[in-house]
Amino acid sequence: MSCIFCDIPTAKLLAENTLAVAIYDKFPVNKGHVLIIPRRHFADFFDATREEISAIYDLLHRTKTMLETELKPDGFNVGINVGQTAGQTVMHLHVHLIPRFKGDVENPRGGVRKIKPNLVPYEE
Ligand code: 5GP
Ligand code: ZN
Repeated sequence: MSCIFCDIPTAKLLAENTLAVAIYDKFPVNKGHVLIIPRRHFADFFDATREEISAIYDLLHRTKTMLETELKPDGFNVGINVGQTAGQTVMHLHVHLIPRFKGDVENPRGGVRKIKPNLVPYEE
């Protein structure tokens, strides 16, 4: 079975530790869009061990610091699609770290809530 996230060339790695790696997304939502990926092949975030979560967390922080230095974003979205119904297309777990910049969308209110229309209005 071939898997793009099992076969990442070492030269593409932004950061790594024993259990996870970080790379740029090939089709970025924003400049600096990073993926944090466990080395072990499995699809579901909820199947990750505590050690893998800790390794992913370490790389999230390290790449966040890198992006802050390089791109000076104004915010971030961190997200995981779990299952095809939730939009997952690559069935090897990955955590999206997406830098956000003031004005990159007209109205950012809601952030990751915008994956689908609300059931009830989100108003104050
Ligand atoms: P998903 O929809 O499964 O949460 O996200 C898959 C992500 O992988 C997408 O953001 C997509 O742009 C990214 N992607 C797909 N193919 C490749 C690839 O070959 N290399 C890299 N670096 N990212 C990829
Ligand atoms: Zn894989």
